[in-house]
Amino acid sequence: MSSLKNDFIPYGHQWIDDEDIESVAEALRSDWITQGRKIDEFERRVAEYCGAKYAVAVANGTAALHAACAVAGISEGDEAITTPITFPATTNAVVYCNGKPVFADIKEDTLNIDPEAIQNKLSAKTKAILPVDFAGHPAELDEIREIARERGLVVIEDAAHALGAEYKGRRIGSISDMTILSFHPVKHITTGEGGMILTDSREFYEKLKIFRHHGIVRDNQDKGLWYYEIHELGHNFRITDFQCALGLSQLKKLDRFIQRRREIAARYNEAFAGIEEIITPVEREDAQAVYHIYVIQLQLEKLKSDRKEIFKALREKNIGVNVHYLPVHLHPFYQRKFGYKKGDYPKAEGYYERAITLPLFPKMSDDDVEYVIGSVMKVITNYRK
Ligand SMILES: *Cc1c(COP(=O)(O)O)cnc(C)c1O
Repeated sequence: MSSLKNDFIPYGHQWIDDEDIESVAEALRSDWITQGRKIDEFERRVAEYCGAKYAVAVANGTAALHAACAVAGISEGDEAITTPITFPATTNAVVYCNGKPVFADIKEDTLNIDPEAIQNKLSAKTKAILPVDFAGHPAELDEIREIARERGLVVIEDAAHALGAEYKGRRIGSISDMTILSFHPVKHITTGEGGMILTDSREFYEKLKIFRHHGIVRDNQDKGLWYYEIHELGHNFRITDFQCALGLSQLKKLDRFIQRRREIAARYNEAFAGIEEIITPVEREDAQAVYHIYVIQLQLEKLKSDRKEIFKALREKNIGVNVHYLPVHLHPFYQRKFGYKKGDYPKAEGYYERAITLPLFPKMSDDDVEYVIGSVMKVITNYRK
């Protein structure tokens, strides 16, 4: 039944073919397996694709966020405004830099951060705004950029879900001060683990490269060719050449992957259109979403049970449903460290109670898609009031 090697249909999955494997093998046979030419080439190609001037590839998307927060100057006492509906890597990155994540509630249609809610959270300590293009739908980037411009804030866009998405005809990666990507296997293209920061700023670019490599600066070579200094603390956030070889090979398929994701999302939308108990995702007129995930919301008042039972019934049918995400302010760490509590962000919390992520990845067969649709229909019918 499934397009994969077992009958379980996960919510996301990579698609690696023989050409990808040959590219990695070739890189492994070369003289460089890390810090070589494949990294430069991958950075150049992704920057070109996204319409950014510069790109810095790193070990994973979380490292990309951490590096971006660091070079944006987030430090002790600073605040960064972001959405509660994200993977905690977004906010963890702020905390690594000793900053405080401040949340602004979401818009109920796109599930992205609400620019008006951002206005209400601005303070003298605000240093950055971190919008997340949730599920692959661009956030309201023009409004956010305008708020940032007025206040001199840095916009770090978490586009881990949104490689290839478009906002008002512009590619994601060409809009914010820095845009971060992830190449984890469930994302649009994979390098195993991997991430990237895109920017048009020469200054951020230089700083990011130094941060990726321990903070090492080599501009005092008159003291000797071996000589380097560390001015600011950095990390080893490097990615390898053979990972970037995989990334280059995957990038060739990105447009096809996106097209297939949009095709599956359209089929889901069509199948669930008449089902009152299900709210399907919204795509705004000015956006082209890339459907990293496909999230339905249950109209709980029309059902006999809560999300937990429906979720379990779908898992029993071998469907790898998931929930994205527990609002970040409800994690015990964030409650303990920053005093957040249930009730702080009602829209995000309400969304969370209703959300179920259905499987969506390019390698899914039409049969997989129809099996998911049929199973959802059956389960909903069983629990209908
Ligand atoms: C995947 C993801 C990340 C982190 O990426 P990794 O490569 O797994 O470290 C960050 N933010 C969001 C929204 C993500 O989905």
